[in-house]
Amino acid sequence: MALDKPSTERMERIVSLCKRRGFIFQTSEIYGGLNGFWDYGPLGTELKRNLKELWWRRMVRERDDVVGLDGAILMNRQVWVASGHEATFSDPMVDCRNCKSRLRGDQLAKKNGQRQCPVCGGTDLTEPRAFNLMFKTYVGATEDESTVSYLRPETAQAIFVQFKNVLETSRQKLPFGIAQIGKAFRNEINPRNFTFRSREFEQMELEYFCRPEQGLELLEYWLKERLKFYEDVGIASDLLHVHKIPPEERAHYSKGTYDIEFAFPFGVQELEGIAYRSDFDLTQHQNASGKSLDYFDEDSKQRFVPHVVEPSAGVDRTVLALLCAGYDEEVVTDEKGKSETRTVLRFHPRVAPIKCGIFPLLKNNERLVRQARDIADSLRSEMMVFYDEAGAIGRRYRRQDEAGTPFCVTVDFDTIGENGPANKDTVTVRYRDSMKQDRIPIAELSDMLREKIR
Ligand code: ATP
Repeated sequence: MALDKPSTERMERIVSLCKRRGFIFQTSEIYGGLNGFWDYGPLGTELKRNLKELWWRRMVRERDDVVGLDGAILMNRQVWVASGHEATFSDPMVDCRNCKSRLRGDQLAKKNGQRQCPVCGGTDLTEPRAFNLMFKTYVGATEDESTVSYLRPETAQAIFVQFKNVLETSRQKLPFGIAQIGKAFRNEINPRNFTFRSREFEQMELEYFCRPEQGLELLEYWLKERLKFYEDVGIASDLLHVHKIPPEERAHYSKGTYDIEFAFPFGVQELEGIAYRSDFDLTQHQNASGKSLDYFDEDSKQRFVPHVVEPSAGVDRTVLALLCAGYDEEVVTDEKGKSETRTVLRFHPRVAPIKCGIFPLLKNNERLVRQARDIADSLRSEMMVFYDEAGAIGRRYRRQDEAGTPFCVTVDFDTIGENGPANKDTVTVRYRDSMKQDRIPIAELSDMLREKIR
């Protein structure tokens, strides 16, 4: 599928599958929900966890120049004063006087030169006013200006303010990076497109510190690395789009910014931003705190504030991209000539929530059941498997197709030697995408699966 037209129907089917199969639920659903907040169900939790683990593996564990951080969500208010968030982290808010909708002023289409409400089509709109997106809270028992804090709107600031501690304890040398995965909160004016724009979400951010002269080259390097990552998790390159932000649209401190965008059914939209932020952040915090955040270069004996390149990705948006990229419906015809539509999530085995479904051919045959359960138990410590004995085999395959399970293993009478010794201790492996089946020895199963999900 190439970058196709926005499709509401496709999106509705994906949202409905997410609920039906337990990927994503509306939060507090039994009380009517809370706009902009979502809960991940059993399958969604696995998918999200696999994505975050892969990001961590690629960005931290497989490199010797990146270390991790797990910062607090609430920080000293001065962090947000110095970073500029308290004064300027806002979106222009506009109200429609006709239908009372709250809208983002920078996302309005125009009709005959007039701004138009996307909800009712009216053009009687208020002037935009700045609305700060940070959730305010109070720390401790007194609610006054001295106890104000904010739920962090991005994970990056903890990395900047801990720069010196991490540098000194990890003994890294430039260039090196600090990575973090964690929750962020933004009181978005208009949360929409399912989880795409939420008020609570997770980010996966890397701040890669370098010498000033390395910044532009590293921006290109990280763009390539990040595109490789999306391919690694199974998002085809024809669904991705790199948008180079023109200088007049970049933040004043940025010397180069790319957005990696994905063709969602509701349009091509940002998944990740990669920005060369110069020495802006460390300098801001150094000036505001009065504490040095510089770097001493042993070779040149020079002291300077490092520059930084920041690849900043959204966990939830990438999970949504995986769901949208993987979602497929196809008409299949069985041996008896009967056609049906099968819904399948074509996840890469690396990110698939369940790696392997394991079925006894019949649930009322004790030997089949025992053998299938033994196989499931032996694999469980290495990967997420799902044992299922309910219903016809075809139906069990379909259920796993919808969950995106790449492999299903069936224990049949050959496995337990009832049809002679030839196929004893072998099982059938059925592949989700081709629906083809192979017979393989049980002894080879774990190696085969491990190889595919690596
Ligand atoms: P947008 O323009 O879509 O509001 P942004 O440019 O403000 O996004 P950044 O501040 O660059 O976003 O945040 C980095 C990443 O965090 C984004 O690329 C996105 O994946 C994720 N992200 C930001 N805001 C949200 C949100 N409201 N819901 C889900 N993910 C988000």
